Amino acid sequence: MLQQTRVSVVIPYYNRFILKWPTLQSFYNAKLEEILFLWQGMGYYKRAENLYKAKELLKTKKKVTVNYQSLLEIPGIGDYTSSAISAILNDERCSVVDGNIKRILTRVFKLNNNENSYDKKIRFISSYLTPKRKNGNYCQSLMDLANSVCKIRNPKCKICPVEDFCLSKGFKFALTEKKKTKNKIVVAFIINYRNYFLVDRSSKKLLKNLFCFPLSDSKDIDKNFIENDFLDKTVNHWLKIKKLKVSYKFVGKVIHKFSHFQLKVLVVKLNLKSKFRLENFYWLTMKELNNKPVSKLMLKIKEKVK
Ligand code: SF4
Repeated sequence: MLQQTRVSVVIPYYNRFILKWPTLQSFYNAKLEEILFLWQGMGYYKRAENLYKAKELLKTKKKVTVNYQSLLEIPGIGDYTSSAISAILNDERCSVVDGNIKRILTRVFKLNNNENSYDKKIRFISSYLTPKRKNGNYCQSLMDLANSVCKIRNPKCKICPVEDFCLSKGFKFALTEKKKTKNKIVVAFIINYRNYFLVDRSSKKLLKNLFCFPLSDSKDIDKNFIENDFLDKTVNHWLKIKKLKVSYKFVGKVIHKFSHFQLKVLVVKLNLKSKFRLENFYWLTMKELNNKPVSKLMLKIKEKVK
């Protein structure tokens, strides 16, 4: 849960999770849909899917060996997580390197992160510094140092325990320029037949396994972009493909930020006179939909149903 998400955001999710599945044994019977339902709103849903795959794998094993190599076999556990667990739990001598620890080493040894050999140097230094004993304490102290002293901006060099041999002590670190976020646009379709809504159990990479109102393909927004043209063309094209003869009503816009781009959603409503079937699409009442896992984006689009 803590990959890419702040502790304060994770805590309520973690508590709900532990309340529902207090033991690994009770978690063995969890369905992917139930896991996603508790996860909704936290983003990076791939983690929930990996958690599901991990427990499915653990179910088949009688015993799990906790060491760097065997933990790597578990879905969702990569180099950093595996080395951190093995170091903290077993004092295994594996070097733990994430972005924060890289930052400390880069500063202490005044490394140039634009150099080709930068990663190699980081690997060498971190492996050299990893102690033979009490590695768990060592890597947790590095994590705390990064979190509370050697911060991205305004490092507190005066209270830093490694100040004496840090080659960057007292240095004023400039803010790195934020990358420009890409802007994309998409149309969302609220398709209603009596009390039922058409929902896509998307197999698309972005919202995989979550329930969502149908979305058109997205388009990058450039300076020549005309929103009304896009809306009209996209809706008409979509209706043609789905062989629907019905007029639509524009009901509003939603803006949603993903980690690497911002999405503008133009929401349209269609009231149908008969139902149709599509693979991976379902007709659900609002009550049913409220019990299905959906993304934060979908929650925002749902507000437009009223
Ligand atoms: S002395 Fe300053 S720059 Fe160096 S590790 Fe400590 S906090 Fe970071």
